[in-house]
Order: sequence, then structure tokens, then C-alpha cells
Amino acid sequence: MPAGRHFLQIPGPSNVPDRVLRAMDFPTIDHRGPHFAELGRTVLDGMRWVFRTEGHVVIYPASGTGAWEAALVNTLSPGDTVLMYETGHFATLWKELAQRLGLTPVFIEGNWRGGADPDAIEAKLHEDTGHEIKAVCVVHNETSTGSVSPIAAIRKAIDAAGHPALLMVDTISSLGSLDYRHDAWGVDVTVSGSQKGLMLPPGLSFNAISDKALAASKTAELPKSYWAWDAMQSPNGKGYFPYTPATNLLYGLKEALAMLREEGLDNVFARHARHGAATRAAVRAWGLELLCQAPEQYSNVLTAVMTPEGHSADAFRAVTLENYDMSLGNGLSKVADRVFRIGHLGDFNDLMLCATLSGVEMGLRDAGVPHQAGGVQAAMAVLGPRGAEDRAAA
Ligand code: PLP
Repeated sequence: MPAGRHFLQIPGPSNVPDRVLRAMDFPTIDHRGPHFAELGRTVLDGMRWVFRTEGHVVIYPASGTGAWEAALVNTLSPGDTVLMYETGHFATLWKELAQRLGLTPVFIEGNWRGGADPDAIEAKLHEDTGHEIKAVCVVHNETSTGSVSPIAAIRKAIDAAGHPALLMVDTISSLGSLDYRHDAWGVDVTVSGSQKGLMLPPGLSFNAISDKALAASKTAELPKSYWAWDAMQSPNGKGYFPYTPATNLLYGLKEALAMLREEGLDNVFARHARHGAATRAAVRAWGLELLCQAPEQYSNVLTAVMTPEGHSADAFRAVTLENYDMSLGNGLSKVADRVFRIGHLGDFNDLMLCATLSGVEMGLRDAGVPHQAGGVQAAMAVLGPRGAEDRAAA
């Protein structure tokens, strides 16, 4: 084992804070006993707070993929048309999942270099005069490309088209890192996961559910059992679950929610924004190209960087892991070996970012990837001198 701490700078799972690790290191309690209910109620209320919803929240012992499936099987019927947008690899996986469930996705093609375009969505909905489209599904933060889709504008586009489709949003890599508002943005089902902005290990996933989506679930005909929202509702109301919950992950969730409350969500988002801006400054100084081409859609969760033609991103990542014990995210499917991804999310601070960027710069040097030195300096300039005011806000 190399000395020192491994740098886990993939865009999730993110670094699990020691506070969360310690909070999980307790005996598992009886999930039907009297002490469990307080834990159950606290984490369900806390998740409502993070989603910014007064509505319903469901917690599954599952990876994010489970919560994707839950959103679809609870609200839709066999053969239903769903409008999905190709922002990248994860949007494509969600579309394939929909196909396997017997839904009919209409996939708006994208070039993987930006977020979803509300105008293109509005145009498709206008064409759908018979209201065959039952749901619009968008990935908020596309983890494969580092692009963010404008969810509030997509809600407006659906309303402008006068279309009744449900709006479903994947926030698996944005919740707890980027501003997100389930109620204010009129989202019907929000999908999320534990292992990114929520700073937990993988293993929990979530649905936030509007009244309209809940009403749709009463008539939806896709088969469901494990994922059924209605089975959750009555036990959840008392702080319990219909099956054995992931009790120790819930201990961790309680602690992670406390950490987010202590810092304040707006400060958490501002911290991610500083780190995103500093990382992009480093990439520009290296003379490398960002995968995301739309500045207003840059992700503050991760930065996907293209290696120059003829230079393998995977070879660079392998050298960086070997020499500096740092894991960077790989390019997925269409951008395999052309892109590496720097995760700067979750429990992360200025010095962790500077160390991460130093590792990238040294890795580029060691792997012989053409670049200019000085990326770390450029990032430090963006981080700027911190005054007493900043420290007071932190
Ligand atoms: N959606 C997004 C945006 C993701 O980043 C991921 C995983 O990284 C998933 C869905 C799939 O989640 P999981 O791997 O937890 O099943």
C-alpha cells in the first residue's frame, strides 16, 4: 500500500468524511423497534430539506439505477412514450433502462458537449398534439461530460407547450452539490443517490415525488413490487420501512445531513462553484480542452478534460494512479480514452483541490501529454486570497 491517503477524485463515489464513517460505526439496531423510528423520521425529513420539497421522499437500499427504475415503474404503463435527452452516457443508460422496461423512449440526440436544450424539448412537445408523451426525463448533472441541464427552463418549456407530461430529473451527481429545487422547479420525480454530494458510501438511492406523480402511480400499470411507492407510504409515515433498511447507511445519512445543515446549502453550492471555476482555470492554463462547450452549463461537480489527439486519457490516468495514488474518472463509452474526469465534489476543500490539480499536472508531465505548466498557479489565483470575511462565512 502506498503511504498517505489515496486521492479518490472520480466524480463519485466521493470521499466519505471521517464524521460520516464514525457515525456508521455503531451496532445495527432493530429496524422495527422503538429507537428506529426517530432515525427514520430524521432522515426522511432531512432528505425533504435537501430536495427542497414539502412532498414525498422514498429511500431505497439500492444504487442510483434502482431509483431510476423506481421513477419509471411507479408512474408509467407498458408502451408509454417518454421523451429523453442524450446529454451523455448516463442519459443513454436511463433510456436503455426505459426500453428494457417496455417503454418507448423518444431520444433527442445530443453531442455530449452540453446540457439539454429546453427549446428542443418544447418543439417535441408541441408536435405531440395527442399527448402520447407521458414523461420528460432529464439528467441534471451529466456525470460523463460535466454539463448541467437547466431544469427550471425545461419546466417552463413543458408549460409553454401546454403539455401534461411528468417531469423526471436525475440528480444522482448534483444533489447536495448544485442548487436544486424539486418543488420550485415543478419536478414530478427527482432521482438521486448517496455516493456523491451526500458524501456517503454507495448503497442508498432516493425518489422525491410530487402529488401529480403520486396520483399517476395509482393508475400506472408497469409491474412493480420492491420499488412500489405505496408500500413505503404507511410505514414511512411512522419512521419505518416495509423491508429491512440499510440501517448503518442511514446513520451515515443522518450525519451527512447534519454536516450539510451546519455548512448551509448555499455555502455548499458556493464552495463547489469556486472549485469548479478554479479547476477550469487550471485546464485552460494547461492548454487542454473542456468537453463541455457551453460556459453557462459548466458543472461545478466535475470537470471532463479532453486529451490532445493521439494521447490516451486512460494511459495518463494509469500513470497518475501509479505515481501519485490518485484515481481520476475515465471517459465513458463515446468518449472512452479521449477524456479524463476530475471530481471536485462532496467533502472537499481548497487544499484537496490544489493537491488534486498538482497530481493531474504531474501526471500529464509523466505521461508525456503535451500541456503547459502552471495550471495549479492559475487555480490558486481563482481561489484568491481569503479574507476575514470569507473565513467568517465558511
Ligand atoms: N445517473 C448519474 C448522473 C450518475 O452519475 C450515475 C452513476 O454515476 C447513475 C445515474 C447510476 O447510478 P448508480 O451507479 O449508483 O446505479
